[in-house]
Amino acid sequence: MRAEKNLNTLIYFAIICILAKECCGVTVGEDKRSCPVCEEQITVLEIASSGSYIYNRESKYDLIYCPYDDPEFIWMCPYCGYAQVAGYFADLSSVEKNELKDFLSTKWEPASPNDISIEAPNDISAIEMRFDQAILVNKFLEKDEDFWAWFNRVLIFHYRKIDPDKAKTFAVDEIELLQKGKGKFDDPEKSRAYLLGEYNRMIGNSELARKHLYQALKVDTVSEIKHANTALIILNFMLFFSLLFTWIKKGLKKKNRVIYTIVAIIVFACCSFIQYWIPELVRQKEYMNNYYNEIIYDRLRLPDRQSE
Ligand SMILES: [Zn+2]
Repeated sequence: MRAEKNLNTLIYFAIICILAKECCGVTVGEDKRSCPVCEEQITVLEIASSGSYIYNRESKYDLIYCPYDDPEFIWMCPYCGYAQVAGYFADLSSVEKNELKDFLSTKWEPASPNDISIEAPNDISAIEMRFDQAILVNKFLEKDEDFWAWFNRVLIFHYRKIDPDKAKTFAVDEIELLQKGKGKFDDPEKSRAYLLGEYNRMIGNSELARKHLYQALKVDTVSEIKHANTALIILNFMLFFSLLFTWIKKGLKKKNRVIYTIVAIIVFACCSFIQYWIPELVRQKEYMNNYYNEIIYDRLRLPDRQSE
C-alpha cells in the first residue's frame, strides 16, 4: 500500500497548494515502458507536470484525483492483456509475473496497440476493456480491501458517465468496505462519513445519505490539534511546578536534582518544538476541513437520487 499512501500524502499537499492558490498547469506526454508481464515495449501516458487546480475537478466527489480521473492512466499491454493503474503497474514479484502470464494467456488474444487505444473521451468500449482487464488482474493478485476501497471509487467515477447502473453496483461494494473501516485517508472519519453519504445518495438511500453527510460535516479535524496544543501547555506547567518542587524540597541529593532538571529541559524543548509547528498544522487542517465541507455542501444541495 506504499504507493497509495504516498499518493494520499501527495494529494494532501496538493490540495493545500490549491487552497493557497499556488497553481500551475498540468501536461501529459507519451512514454515507453516495458510490460512487467511479457516484457514487450508499450506506450503509456505520463504526467509531465502537474497543477493543483485538478483537485477542484469533478472527480473530487469520489475523492479521486488526477491522473486517475483519466482512463488512460489504467496502463494496458495489448500483447498480453495486463492492465493496471499506473502507480501499481510495475509492482509485481517474479512469481506473480509468471502466474499472471499463464492466467492472462487463457483470457486474452494478443492485439495491436491500436486495438486498445482510447481514441476519444467517450470511447466507451476501449475504456471498459481497460477497466475489465484491470479488475481481472487485481482480483487475480488478491489485492486487499484497502486497495479496492480506492479502486472502486476510480471505477465509480468513470462509470457515472458511461454506465450509471454499473457505477451503482460498485457503490454498493464500496459502502460495504467503508462500513468495515477500509480505505486509506488522511482524515478517515470525515472522508468515510462523506463517501457513505455520497454513495447511499447514489443508490437512492436518501435519508441515510443525509444522515452520513451531516455526520461528516460535524467531524472537526481541527479541534484534535487544538486539544493536543492544550495538552502540551498543561504538560509544560506540570513540568515547571515539579521542577520547582524538586529544588525547594529538602533532603533530595543534588545529583538527582540535576538529572531531573536535565530531563525536564529536554521534555520542555521537545514540547516547544511540537508547539512551534502547531499553528501551521492547524492552518493546513482548516484548509482541508473547509475543502471537504464544500464538497459535502455541494452534495447536500443536490436533489435526491441524482447520480451526477
Ligand atoms: Zn504484456
